[in-house]
Amino acid sequence: MKRNLLWLQSGGCGGCSQSLFCAEAPDLFINLEAANIQLLWHPSLSETSGADFLSLLEQIKAGEIRLDILCLEGSVIRGPNGSGRFHMMANSPLPMMAWISELAAQAEHVVAVGTCAAYGGITAAGNNPSDACGLQYEGAESGGLLGESFRSRSGLPVVNIAGCPTHPNWITETLMTLTSRQSCEMALDGLGRPRSYVDHLVHHGCPRNEYYEYKASAEKHSDLGCLMENLGCVGTQAHGDCNIRLWNGEGSCLRGGYACINCTAPQFEEPGHPFTETPKIAGIPTGLPTDMPKAWFVALASLSKAATPARLKENATSDHIRVPPIQPRKRS
Ligand code: SF4
Ligand code: SF4
Repeated sequence: MKRNLLWLQSGGCGGCSQSLFCAEAPDLFINLEAANIQLLWHPSLSETSGADFLSLLEQIKAGEIRLDILCLEGSVIRGPNGSGRFHMMANSPLPMMAWISELAAQAEHVVAVGTCAAYGGITAAGNNPSDACGLQYEGAESGGLLGESFRSRSGLPVVNIAGCPTHPNWITETLMTLTSRQSCEMALDGLGRPRSYVDHLVHHGCPRNEYYEYKASAEKHSDLGCLMENLGCVGTQAHGDCNIRLWNGEGSCLRGGYACINCTAPQFEEPGHPFTETPKIAGIPTGLPTDMPKAWFVALASLSKAATPARLKENATSDHIRVPPIQPRKRS
């Protein structure tokens, strides 16, 4: 039996869809076929529009078409004054917010694709004029549009594939799991994120790990060193397997020279300082690695700094390897 998937977009940039379209080996369509998923509608992939589209939604709402998976990309727009009228569904008297609630009630599984749909994300930044929230969270607080106690027909809460954008394979893997027999046992962490990718830290597999070990730090963005001490990297606290399961086969923010900004976490959009600066007190970064007592970190950091090999010290502040790891042997 085919599983029906409906994909809606609300307050977001569409970047999570763009990321999904980059799924490769296998690509999106092969993934959907393998998971036995029929795409009822996606805003970028479907031709159906206008009255035909509304008719599809009405049939789902009335239970005439089974809805196995509802995916929302982008946050829920509740403004102004809780009316949701900042985002009306085209050709419908109802706001998108109302459609999402009604369709979620019919769905076997409800999936928030991206940090906007999960927690509010970028759309909720600043003074949040559109009153954006996530499907089952508002920032780190559970609630959101559907409420803390919401469970889809499968018994699962909203599955939050957080990330900004979210990795294409995090989406396809989650869809595969939800359409498998083990779907009801899908392992989620305390923020509703699939443990298949958030049981790792972004720091795991980062090519700058050797610099991190010796606290050989980059001073500017083109440098090879670790970005934690000066350039805002929070990969030691951010949950995600970005440096293990690379993007498009070979990329990650760190590999592209950009610090990890913890985009899989609620409220990552408001760190309280520029993303690429490390806040410090008395020269010590205030955000320290997960699980490590501060005193240990300070002691270990000063020891490792004292022991930094000359090779790493020099390469850390260079945009290319100046000193190779193996020195030529001297002739005796
Ligand atoms: S989570 Fe990020 S990439 Fe995805 S829709 Fe929101 S802003 Fe765009
Ligand atoms: S740059 Fe960030 S993720 Fe990479 S080693 Fe340093 S702290 Fe870890």
